[in-house]
Amino acid sequence: MCGIVGYLGFRNATEILINGLKRLEYRGYDSAGIALILDNKLKIYKCKGKVADLENLIKYKNTISTIGIGHTRWATHGEPNDINAHPHQSMKGYFSIIHNGIIENYIELRTFLQEKDYKFIGETDTEILANFFEYVYLKNKTSNENYSPEDAIRACLQKVDGAYGLVILCKDTPNQLIAARKSSPLVIGSAKKEYFIASDASCLVEYTDRVIYLDDNDIAIINNRGLTITDLENNVHNPIFDKIEVKLEEIEKAGFDHYMLKEIFEQPTSIHNTFRGRLNLKDKSITLGGLQEIFPELVKAKRIIIIACGTSWHAGLVGEYLFEELARIPTEVEYASEFRYRNPIIFEDDIILAISQSGETADTLAAIKLAKKSGAKVIGICNVVGSSIARETIAGVYTHAGAEIGVASTKAFTSQITILTMMALSIGLSKKTISKEQFDDILIGISEVPNKIEEFFKTQTDNIKEISEKIYNKKNSIYLGRGYLYPVAMEGALKLKEISYIHAEGYPAAEMKHGPIALIDEEMPVVVIAPKENSYDKIVSNIQEVKARHGIIIAIVTKGEKNLKNVADYIIEIPETEAQLLPLISVIPLQLLAYYIATKLGKNVDQPRNLAKSVTVE
Ligand code: GLU
Repeated sequence: MCGIVGYLGFRNATEILINGLKRLEYRGYDSAGIALILDNKLKIYKCKGKVADLENLIKYKNTISTIGIGHTRWATHGEPNDINAHPHQSMKGYFSIIHNGIIENYIELRTFLQEKDYKFIGETDTEILANFFEYVYLKNKTSNENYSPEDAIRACLQKVDGAYGLVILCKDTPNQLIAARKSSPLVIGSAKKEYFIASDASCLVEYTDRVIYLDDNDIAIINNRGLTITDLENNVHNPIFDKIEVKLEEIEKAGFDHYMLKEIFEQPTSIHNTFRGRLNLKDKSITLGGLQEIFPELVKAKRIIIIACGTSWHAGLVGEYLFEELARIPTEVEYASEFRYRNPIIFEDDIILAISQSGETADTLAAIKLAKKSGAKVIGICNVVGSSIARETIAGVYTHAGAEIGVASTKAFTSQITILTMMALSIGLSKKTISKEQFDDILIGISEVPNKIEEFFKTQTDNIKEISEKIYNKKNSIYLGRGYLYPVAMEGALKLKEISYIHAEGYPAAEMKHGPIALIDEEMPVVVIAPKENSYDKIVSNIQEVKARHGIIIAIVTKGEKNLKNVADYIIEIPETEAQLLPLISVIPLQLLAYYIATKLGKNVDQPRNLAKSVTVE
């Protein structure tokens, strides 16, 4: 959440900051701003709106500097307006800061500063922090002229509760950037005679592939002497360099109107990349390298608890069905935010599986920390290499879906399910809860999914677009599915809500008669995922129930299926596959339907209102 960029080097910082903010805009787009050092003074330009508005604001202004910081905001404290936009400047003009996260004790700090006659102009927690730095700096400076801005920052951050990724400029050290991290991601890129700071490594790929991921409580000081990393007690840490894996083309739109559409159409490739090198068709085996050491414990696990949020939580529900059916391991799926605060029972021999696209989801990270305290083994599935969740867990699997920029997650979901399926299959085979024959069938099925999705795109994309044009103006929608397809129904409803702002709910199809059926009339589209599988006959009855109440039925059926032709108003055909693999294929029409409805309504699907990618606040 919120995009952060910093630059110190020899090029025009403004260009680098604006370019970086555009790449990070998916993380927040309430307002944007930059701070530069111009003639040894701090200069801030910021405004409500998008990075394009900021560009307009600075068009004819003097912005040539070789050092600066930039921010694109997802507001947590204070409405999105010009004043609350970052960077924030301290009252006497010494510090300018950008921040990702929440300062939880900001009210206490504000009261403290107010007693010292500090005045505030906005409502953000960040402004308080900027002033706290200034107060402590100036107070100590009077008695010790060697007291530095970084000394003040270290001292202050020891008193701060909450989460922060910070980049700070101080007018007394005009050639220096200071970065600090706790629970919000920050990465430093290093190239010859220049340094970059960002909340997401993907925006650095065009400048460097050498990066350092800051750890919690790290403070990085960057100036013409180079880079120094210390902790809050000023102990120096050796920087550990990593290589960025993301490629530039992954973060471009590649001719598509939106990242979301590009990412939907990428799924044959992203799913393939998820199982590539792990699923071996020749000798019919699955190897998940990241889980090798922990695998014996997975096999004897008495319980798996999956913790996740949003779309990853839906993937987790599919995981529950897979682990219970194929590996016979009791599995619970929890919203990370609830798990974290409800004093859950966690046994030492539980396996906790955290799922997150970004690997930075704050609720999931907090839940991981809680689970670790109880002694349970915590493993992860995430997409972003080197992310906090990858580092906080003892083992895990990367999805390798490639950078996902669209705020509404699509390809991350199918890649997460691909991993969960491979995990359940491997454990099941080892425990002999599935036969080798069933293992092989599903394994072959996974390998065929990419081609099946390609075939689906060729034959059904126009059909889905046409359906969207018929139903885009409806105010509500219901999504129904059974078994493995119930979480998919919820995911389809979530996609529609997120990007079109149409109210939508996903239900297990049989639950409809226990309440939601009251909502059905001729204005209610009901999307029913009804491919041929175990409970097919039951779901056909559910469709009839909707029909009897004049709902508009959009049925997702197995290719060639004839029974529902005269019942449903619209039919979308998907290729046949194993029941366990149906989520991978049946979610695609739901993603496309949401996309086409939202674009028909003129919504900005890549930057839906109030949302942001990578939710780094609890
Ligand atoms: N809490 C800060 C604010 O509301 C930072 C939010 C963010 O991460 O963008 O301005």
